[in-house]
Amino acid sequence: MKSWIINRTCDLSSEIAPLVLVDQPEPEPQTGQVLLKVNTCGVCHTEIDEIEGRTPPLVYPVIPGHQVIGTLVRHLGKRSDLQIGDRVGVAWIYAACGSCEFCLSGQENLCRQFRATGRDVNGGYAEYMIADENYVYKIPGIFTDTEAAPLLCAGAIGYRSLSLCNMMNGKTLGLTGFGASAHLVLKLVQHLYPKTEVYVFARSRTEREFALQLGCKWTGDHNERPPLRVDCIIDTTPVWTTVIEALACLKPGGRLVINAIRKEESDKDSLLRLSYPMHLWMEKEIKSVANVTRNDVQEFIRLAAEMSFKPEVEEYSFESANQALVDIKNRRIKGAKVLIVS
Ligand SMILES: [Zn+2]
Ligand SMILES: [Zn+2]
Repeated sequence: MKSWIINRTCDLSSEIAPLVLVDQPEPEPQTGQVLLKVNTCGVCHTEIDEIEGRTPPLVYPVIPGHQVIGTLVRHLGKRSDLQIGDRVGVAWIYAACGSCEFCLSGQENLCRQFRATGRDVNGGYAEYMIADENYVYKIPGIFTDTEAAPLLCAGAIGYRSLSLCNMMNGKTLGLTGFGASAHLVLKLVQHLYPKTEVYVFARSRTEREFALQLGCKWTGDHNERPPLRVDCIIDTTPVWTTVIEALACLKPGGRLVINAIRKEESDKDSLLRLSYPMHLWMEKEIKSVANVTRNDVQEFIRLAAEMSFKPEVEEYSFESANQALVDIKNRRIKGAKVLIVS
């Protein structure tokens, strides 16, 4: 089968072909697993963190991709609700141990044995992939294969980030960066908390215009101040400057939720601008978002279907995987990028 692999660490600001296309045998599922023929796979900023070594694969080579929509072609498990021919999705959570304190308390995202699809185990940038039968999700018919892929990461992690905001209808929310995940959070907020005003901070004018089209209250650059201080901000950028700027825009008692698997080192010195009275005093909090649980994925898919909203997607041919990654690196982003695999 044709598959894209990560076989080394490299810097995407100078490298335009980080992934290598190879032909390799179709994988063989074991007991408890299913084999999927991949239809589409979303492209995520996390692939860049893997390639650039901030969250590297356990072993090389690995097939990236953790927003996978596929057709079930073999079933070696016990789940009776799964049939050959079903359309299912696989997300970032490939598996967790199921027995530790975190798994038993609904926080399998924090499990020490958490395995990530497309980093610790082969993912969906390939014609076929294997998944654990207990970690696949049925996809409602209202979504096309392309529309469904971004629900699995951008949507699910956006849902988790919003859950960590303790949001209530009427509280104000800021979004720093307006890529795949943030645009889904905006739509989710409009559905769940119709009185909540959303303020979007983004460096790129395209992202700001896109946010206004989708109905946010205000947009500005990272260093601009909105007309009021907000209750909560979700930061989806890979940099540090935004953390400082966001903290300055929070109300007393406000919370900053950082939805980024890793931050880049390039502007870390901006943290030296941290002023305790301006950025942290008055019980301001910072919280990171780690991974997703199956419940996050399922809940987001359910809500997306209920709202019948379609994510804004940009399609790339399977052969253009490297181009899609370079475009994300250069923040040529409008919505979510998806590879058409077959
Ligand atoms: Zn992702
Ligand atoms: Zn566990």
